[in-house]
This record gives sequence, structure tokens and C-alpha cells, in this order.
Amino acid sequence: MKPTSTTIAEMRVEVLDAIASGMPLRGVADLLCHRVEQIAPGFAATVVRVDADRRLRPMGGPSMPKAYCDAFDGVEIGYEVGACGSAAFRGEPVLSQDPHNDPTWPESIRALLPTSVGSCWSSPIKDGDGHVLGTFAFYYLPGAGPEAIHLEIAEACLPLCRIAIERQQDAERIALLTHYDALTGLPNRASLRSHLTELIDDPAVHGIALLHIDIDRFSDINESLGFADGDRLLVSVAERLRGHGSLAPGHELFSLGGDGYALVLVGADAEGATGHAEQVLSHISTPLPLSDLPVVVSASVGISLYPNDGQDSAELMRQADAAVGRAKASGGGGYRFSEPLIDRAAQDRIVLGVALRAALRGRHLRLAYQPQVDMTDMRLHAVEALSRWDDATRGPIPPDRFIPLAEQIGQVAELDAWALREACRQLAEWDSEGLRVPSVSVNFSPLSFRAGLPGLIAALLDENGLTPDRLTIEVTESVVMDDTSVATAWQIRDLGVGLSVDDFGTGFSAIARLPFLPITELKIDRSFLEGIDENPAYTALTRAVVGIGESLGLRVIAEGVETVRQAELLGEIGCPLGQGFLFAKPEDPEALRAWLTSRNVA
Ligand code: C2E
Ligand code: CA
Ligand code: CA
Repeated sequence: MKPTSTTIAEMRVEVLDAIASGMPLRGVADLLCHRVEQIAPGFAATVVRVDADRRLRPMGGPSMPKAYCDAFDGVEIGYEVGACGSAAFRGEPVLSQDPHNDPTWPESIRALLPTSVGSCWSSPIKDGDGHVLGTFAFYYLPGAGPEAIHLEIAEACLPLCRIAIERQQDAERIALLTHYDALTGLPNRASLRSHLTELIDDPAVHGIALLHIDIDRFSDINESLGFADGDRLLVSVAERLRGHGSLAPGHELFSLGGDGYALVLVGADAEGATGHAEQVLSHISTPLPLSDLPVVVSASVGISLYPNDGQDSAELMRQADAAVGRAKASGGGGYRFSEPLIDRAAQDRIVLGVALRAALRGRHLRLAYQPQVDMTDMRLHAVEALSRWDDATRGPIPPDRFIPLAEQIGQVAELDAWALREACRQLAEWDSEGLRVPSVSVNFSPLSFRAGLPGLIAALLDENGLTPDRLTIEVTESVVMDDTSVATAWQIRDLGVGLSVDDFGTGFSAIARLPFLPITELKIDRSFLEGIDENPAYTALTRAVVGIGESLGLRVIAEGVETVRQAELLGEIGCPLGQGFLFAKPEDPEALRAWLTSRNVA
């Protein structure tokens, strides 16, 4: 045996130095084992930690085979679980005289214990309160065992192991604090940054939406509630968001410190992000049961999208932050997208599209009815049904905006079918009230003028007890230029329902085909009327349309009649049917009822 020059005192200084210099626990444990093995050769030393779940975690044991150490990693301590497991459990040293034949050693561990080991002596490492932090063990060659020198070594090493493990625990606590928010327990801003970076670096990830959620006027709330309730509010909001139904796999919630939160949605695009933002806002705005009184808060959300709005985590976070600032600036309670790359128009379309879908589903649309009159006797000829959308937050949205939008997002067929259904229902209601509305015209987009329409019309007429002459379908010229649509038009006409060409004269004029089309009515576009009093060319055009209608046996109706002069000119030309603000604006059914009764022309 080689005489050793390393004394216990030197070993202690060396190990303490290593701990002080910040060496990780595993390194310290290995160093300590090495040194003690040099002080008194003839054994192998190991240092094992006991984790919060009371499981063994080997930290050092450079002279023991790695496979053996791996075998007991994670084994739960117990009254009779090998030498270390028992020592840790009992809080006192345990000597296992013949581990190869000791039934308290789990079989899987015993199998990997080297044959050169004859016995094992393990001592618990305890903290100042007597809690077991780990074990320090000697594995002896056959025939050897604990001697006075070993007791001396253990006495010196146990406090060193304690210091090293406590150091490690502190480091872990600090790491927890640097990655988690102490109040809510959510991963913090630093974690968000690394999470985003990981996602961006992942080739399988194609889109990321970052929602920066910030409570509106939190400082006021904090002041009026007091800090303790303010903190509870922040925790409740975190719980709400965590419980947010859409916190599905791939979605992660973070605390940004104070009253800020971040939601990361993997694979979400602008539309997905919008849906989530709306859900988040509604989750937050339901009253929080804090103190005696439920507290109602609102939040603002700023959204940035990868890859559109930024190529790295810092830029995405900056953009979401700027967007939440804009959401707050416009009063809070809403959400905004990052502005740099996604253009405003596209943004509005997306946001509005989501709202329109919801409006359609929630039946938040309504119909206004505009009278068409026979100008010779001022009798009501028909009404045109026009869709109206009053959004709860945005106010009324004009059809010139939401109809094209509905076409873009594939919702126009649903919208038109709804309008048809509602108009038929309303007409039947007027009938039942004894109010005489001769017929109703309903607009159909070229996109909703399709095969199922004749069947739907027939069913609705039947359902509402209406004869087919009570209904006219308005379509644009492009519809009657398309062969499949013409087939549908014939089926509708065969039902006995009217077909009107709306905005006639503005499209690719279908004049040559008119005689062969199943139409019943031409609507002169409003733009013709606008010029009619000043420009004789418009008068000539209008006269031509009236002439075409006459010769083909079609009804002609002028749209956008605003002045008495226009009405007179139309009379001279021979167009008795008119629709326009001169007679009435599109009105809701109540107002139309009043209009009809007051004029006493019904
Ligand atoms: P449109 O079919 O040409 O409807 C007539 C439009 O002219 C209506 O606009 C009406 O309010 C307006 N108007 C009527 N008289 C006058 C007037 O004297 N002066 C002026 N300046 N305007 C007048 P509105 O209601 O804003 O509708 C716009 C368009 O939206 C409609 O044009 C129609 O193409 C479309 N639309 C409305 N509801 C529906 C619907 O349910 N389905 C489809 N596919 N389109 C619809
Ligand atoms: Ca129309
Ligand atoms: Ca029109």
C-alpha cells in the first residue's frame, strides 16, 4: 500500500476550496471520494443525495462502476433498502456485512455490485435540523471493514458533504427563482425568451403566436384592494389563464412579472391567435371572487406572430409589448396585432372575419327592408331585404364591408341562406298581421348562387305558406353570364320565383344573352340615377334600359332615387318603379310597419 501524504486536514481544505469556487456537487463529491481513498486505501467511497421525493441520487463514486451507481439512481429509501437506502431512512449508520447475500438489497442493484466488494458501511449526511440530505458510504474489499481511521474520515467528510449539498440546494433554489415567477409559480420572462428561442430553432415549428396579456389599470386596482388582494388577483388571473380551455399541448403560459402574462401558441396563425385572444379576454372579464365583493378586471392583449413579425425571441417580445401598449392606448379590454409586417387591411379582415363568423353563429345579424314603390300611385310594390350587422364593440358595420368579407372567408352562402330564411319568415309574419307587403327581394352573391338554392327556396316558401310570386332573388350580371348558374336560375324561375339582375349596366353587360335568360326584372344601377339630372347621356342610358325591359317583357326598377327631379325624369322615361331615400331608407320591420300605416298606401 502506497503511503499517503494527503492528510485529512489537507483534504478538508481542498474540498472546501472547491465548494467555495462554485464547483458543482458532482465534481465536489468525486474529488472528496478520490481524496479519502488516498488517505486510507482499501475501500471505495460514494456520496449519494436524497431528493425531495426521498429517492437516492448518486453524486460521486469515482471508484465504483458507473453501471452500479446508475442501478440505484432513483431507488426510494426505506427501512431495509441496501446500506444507503436504510441509512438515509433511519438516519443512522448502517453496516451491510455481506451485501451480495443481503436480502435487503434490491436484486437489480446487488446484481451489479462488483465481486471485489465484501461489505458496505453507509452514514447519513444531515443538515442542521437533523434532516437527512444524503449518505456517505465506504465499500470495502472482502475481509475488510470500518476501522478507527474510517470513523475519523467519516467524521470529517459528513460536514463537508452537508455543505456541498446545501450549496447545491441553494443554487437550485436560485435557478428556480430565475426561471419562475415567485408569486404565480409560472415560468418567467427569462424562460419565455429561451422557450421562444427553442421553438424558433425547431425546424418542425412553422408558426408561433405570442400573446402578451396585461391587466388594465392594475395599479389602481392594487391601490384600492391593497397589495395582499392585489397579489391574490394576480394569482387568480394566472389560474384562470392556466385553466383556459385552449392551454392545449404546445401552448405555454408565462408570467412577465407584475400584471403581465404571456401565452405562446405553437402552430397558430393570425386567425387562431384572434380566437385565443377573445377567449382570454372573456375569461379574464368574468368576476373574480376575491374579498367580499367580486372584482371585475379587464385586460389588453398584444399579439406578435412568428415568422411575420420578428425572427428572434427579443423582436417577437418587443412587438407583442408594443401591440399591448396600443391596445391599452385605445381604452383596454381589447387586442391588437403587431403592426410592422402584417398590413392593416389584412389584420382588419382577420379580426372582422372572426367576429362575423361569431355574429352569424350567434344570430347577431338582422335584416332591414327598403320599400320599392310604384311612383304613379305611390303604392308599395315590394321590399328589398338588406343585411345589417351591429357589432357589440365595433358598432354598425356596413354591408359593403362585411359582404365582401363574408365572400372571402367562405361564409357568404350561410349569410345569404340566413337572409332568405329570415325574409320569408318576416313576410309570413306581416301576412299574419294583415300587413300587405306584396313581395320581398333577397340578394344573393355569385358565390352563394349554387345548386342547393332552388331546393332551399321551395322548402322555405312551403314552410311559410308563401306563393312563389312573393319572392324575388337579386343577382348580379356575372351570375347570369355563368352557365352552371344559369341552370340554377332556370330551376328557380321554374318554381315561379322572380329573378332580378341587380346593378344592371355596371357589369359585363349581358344584353346579348338577356332574351335567353330566365329573368323577370332589371334594376337600374344607382350610378345612372346620380348623373341623370346633369348629364343627358345618363338619361339616354336609362331610357335604353327601360326600352330593353319593355321589349323583353321585364320589369324595370330604378335604384337610388333621392330627389323629386329624378323621380319626375324616371316618370317621363317610362320607369314607374323606384327605390330610394326619397321614399324610404332601409328600415327595420317595426319602422317599415309605421311607414306603411302612416302613408296609408298599403
Ligand atoms: P344593393 O343590392 O345594390 O342594395 C342597395 C343599396 O343601395 C343598399 O345599400 C341601400 O341602402 C342603398 N340605397 C338604397 N336607396 C338609396 C339611395 O337613395 N341613395 C343611396 N345613396 N343609397 C341607397 P346597403 O344596404 O348598404 O347594401 C349594400 C350592398 O350590400 C347591397 O347593394 C348588396 O349588394 C349587398 N347586400 C346587402 N345585404 C345583402 C345580403 O343579404 N346578401 C348579399 N349577398 N348581399 C347583400
Ligand atoms: Ca340588391
Ligand atoms: Ca343595386
